[in-house]
Amino acid sequence: MVDFGLGEPDFPTPDFVARAGIAAIEKGLTKYTDTAGAPRLREAIAAKYRREQGAACTGENVLVTAGAKQAVFNACQALFDPGDAVALFSPYWVSFPEMVRLAGARPVFVETRLEERWRPAAEQLERLEEPRLRGVIVNSPNNPTGAVLGRRELERILDWCAARDAALIFDETYDRFLYEGGEHVSAAAFWEKHGARVVVTGAASKTYAMTGWRLGWALAPKELVLAMSSYQSHSTSNASSISQEAGVRAFSDLERSDASVAAMLAEYSLRRQAMLSALSKIDGVEVSPPEGAFYAFPRMSGIFQRKGVAGSEELCRRLLAEAHVAAVPGQAFGEDSCVRLSFATSLDRIREGMKRLAAWAS
Ligand code: PMP
Repeated sequence: MVDFGLGEPDFPTPDFVARAGIAAIEKGLTKYTDTAGAPRLREAIAAKYRREQGAACTGENVLVTAGAKQAVFNACQALFDPGDAVALFSPYWVSFPEMVRLAGARPVFVETRLEERWRPAAEQLERLEEPRLRGVIVNSPNNPTGAVLGRRELERILDWCAARDAALIFDETYDRFLYEGGEHVSAAAFWEKHGARVVVTGAASKTYAMTGWRLGWALAPKELVLAMSSYQSHSTSNASSISQEAGVRAFSDLERSDASVAAMLAEYSLRRQAMLSALSKIDGVEVSPPEGAFYAFPRMSGIFQRKGVAGSEELCRRLLAEAHVAAVPGQAFGEDSCVRLSFATSLDRIREGMKRLAAWAS
């Protein structure tokens, strides 16, 4: 089987980071930390946002979590109440609508389109007439579409939040993976003007190939960090002390960190190119080149009729059974005309998988 399903790096955790985890065990750093995270790590994460985004934040603005997933989850629990509505750009990462619902709130979907490179448009938010909109979740670079939100559009979304007294949850889990010279603009860059209503979530998971270590964070106003931390204190407590030590190393040895990210990005760029070029040759398949993250999100509805399938789920089931290629149905992300193909796998596997997909689709 060729697996294009997995949303995680196939690279090992960089050695210098893994060794910091081993050293933490050897030094006996195996006890509880503060619920909100070890002060050294909170400060190291705040320093990243000061350095990279000019955000005047401190360690008190940081909550360390078990992955970006817990950061977004806790933010939803702290910010939203039953009866609230929360805007989500679709296609969306699968967990966003469920997290909103688990907070008792209701997701309101705002569509993005392949023809516009799947980029979120503030104008669509401005047109919403929901009286109880309390927030919006934006993910840039986006999983599954790879869309990246530009500076102007992000500013307009923040202005909309200010006018509506709504919060912005800005998930930048894939912030280091951009292609063709693209630029990531973080909501943290607007900290001075909008910091009071912004939660930025991120993780070591993709950046340092650390999915299994479960290490992420939220950058937020202090009161919100306290609220999220209270929630965390009665649910899961602190993120793993060992993972936190590894995180401190990743954030403090910038030279090695940047080198390992650059090596992964160079490899992802080659893989992305190989996948896009193969997809572009399949009749009935349309794809917008992803600007970031590590997924292609081709529209396959042009072959539904030819293959006699009703939607993305049936297409993926057949593709798996008949061509031994695994992909994720677009339906899971709110877009049934598409499928998600991860290029976080080797070039060889990509070439083989695309050959099978092309033969099956024709
Ligand atoms: N946000 C997005 C957009 C993701 O794709 C993922 C992982 N698939 C997460 C958050 C969660 O990441 P973590 O493993 O750090 O919890």
